[in-house]
Amino acid sequence: MRFEDQRLKLVNELKLEGITSPAVLDAFAKVPRENFVLPEYREYSYQNRPLPIKEGQTISQPLMIAIMLQLLELKSSDTVLEIGTGSGYQSALLAEIVKEVCTVERLESLSLNAQKVLRNAGYNNIYFRIGDGHSGWQKAYPPHKEFDKIIVSAAAQDIPNRLLEQLVIGGKLAIPIGRAGFQILHIVNKTEDGYTITQAGGCSFVPLVCDNNNLG
Ligand code: SAH
Repeated sequence: MRFEDQRLKLVNELKLEGITSPAVLDAFAKVPRENFVLPEYREYSYQNRPLPIKEGQTISQPLMIAIMLQLLELKSSDTVLEIGTGSGYQSALLAEIVKEVCTVERLESLSLNAQKVLRNAGYNNIYFRIGDGHSGWQKAYPPHKEFDKIIVSAAAQDIPNRLLEQLVIGGKLAIPIGRAGFQILHIVNKTEDGYTITQAGGCSFVPLVCDNNNLG
């Protein structure tokens, strides 16, 4: 089956799994996942599962990304902070939906590779930072202080304070929290008085590595 047809089949699978957001489904119908996976896994691009990328990391499972994007209730006017650029696949999906994506990756080689793929794909609303995502968007262009939505695509021990600080009031943060191998997806809503947190099911992400114990 051609990749285009496999892509539409995946979109149907996402619908059957409960994804109803037209913006999210449209983004999955547009972004060619085969461009973000290693050549040896290309034939599995549209299987609904994570796949290995370089540096022992993974490109996230499509359904997990879809659930997170749907729960974030993204708007076309949103500016979004993504922690864990990885392959850049989720950055591309976000860039299809929102105004601007700022993405942080601690591994330089992965970030540079994602920058190349995303530039070749013609995205001009994605900005990159190489560093520890616990500190969010620091010393980076454009100089945003706050984001409408924040998505963390690696498993954290707890919710990093610096990320909460960089969320607008009324904004949402999606973050998997828990031990290696199994986490619970948390959705944090920042309110005038503080935060409300809801748990949104189990998930399994690679760990959010802490490079500097003073951060977070
Ligand atoms: N959404 C990406 C997921 C990549 S996996 C995709 O679909 O391809 C998670 C990524 O988070 C990995 O690339 C890993 O290197 C990165 N990561 C782990 N800890 C990090 C940290 N503290 N700061 C920034 N990135 C981190």
